[in-house]
Amino acid sequence: MSDIVTVKTHEELLNLDLQSLIRKNFIEATEAGKVIYTKANDTIIIDKGNLTCELKIINSLVKKEEDTEKQSQKIDKLENVQKFDPFLNPDKELVVVDDLFSNYKILLNKFPVSENHFLLVTKNFVKQDTLLSPSELTCIFNILQNVNGRKNDKENEGGIFAFFNNGPASGFSQQHKHVQFMKYPLKESKPFPDYVVEGKEFFIPDARYPDTDPLFKSDLSFKHFILPLPKKFESEQEKQELLSFSFIELFKKILNFFKKINAETNDDYKDDLPISYNFLMNENWMMIVPRQKSHYKETLGVNAVGYLGLLLAKNQETKDLVLKDGVDEILKTCGFPIQLDFGKEDEYDY
Ligand code: AMP
Repeated sequence: MSDIVTVKTHEELLNLDLQSLIRKNFIEATEAGKVIYTKANDTIIIDKGNLTCELKIINSLVKKEEDTEKQSQKIDKLENVQKFDPFLNPDKELVVVDDLFSNYKILLNKFPVSENHFLLVTKNFVKQDTLLSPSELTCIFNILQNVNGRKNDKENEGGIFAFFNNGPASGFSQQHKHVQFMKYPLKESKPFPDYVVEGKEFFIPDARYPDTDPLFKSDLSFKHFILPLPKKFESEQEKQELLSFSFIELFKKILNFFKKINAETNDDYKDDLPISYNFLMNENWMMIVPRQKSHYKETLGVNAVGYLGLLLAKNQETKDLVLKDGVDEILKTCGFPIQLDFGKEDEYDY
């Protein structure tokens, strides 16, 4: 059985061998049937030059989607959200850290997309549709630094990243606040934002200066904003401040983007779209992707991992759809076209 782990300070978090702990718990929980990890029935690599994508076909996804659908039908009221909340009283086999700074837990994902897929969740119920706080950002960063700094585990060779799905079109399924950690989809290559920030210094966007706009990869089809993070921080205090500034600047981009989209009256965007985004980060960058649809053609669910090149198809039909329509079209339709640029005029500084 797993030991009870308590972490009180960031120093303790950085010194903990989190990776070994996660791996040990993952093996034990899988053997006990508490983690249900289904390897892909088939994997296809799609490489069109701009974004290498791994398409996994996982037949058991049909059942998982049906269960999630049934659960969300029951969750019409806040009290029901809490009744069906899987993170409030999780199976003990899934708990990696019971008490993190008194407010959080680290849990294994019960239905992992890859080995050692884990979650940072709030101890008490907090709505997913809230912003990441400065201390949450520091906590995410320190978890990444901890695991990626120790890459002694073959399974995590390429390192891990964090992601946060926020808003109705972001592809999230659980309303209890959670951030996920997973290894990169493709073992061999670095994720594209690492190349985008290569050789770039940390900066904070300033609405008055165009050359401080967030970065992007121009040959991709979907709108996204990337900021490079500092190579080192002088103190935990500085880390918290700079991570928060970066996150807030990216979030301001999202607010302005939706403000302008919703002000447009053309046929494509006639109804007001609720704010939805995927947030992703590692120790080198943060990226935010505005979203308008959680599913492509009502069948292929897309969340943050799609925007780093991992798509999960539930059957042959969905696989054929991906191959026919193409990754660029899917990511653009679920997000927004990269060409949509409203300039800086009328941007709120919030
Ligand atoms: P999202 O779909 O982005 O809201 O992420 C929620 C994650 O929680 C999914 O990846 C699920 O696999 C995972 N999950 C669902 N039920 C449980 C559970 N009982 N314990 C741990 N993780 C779960």
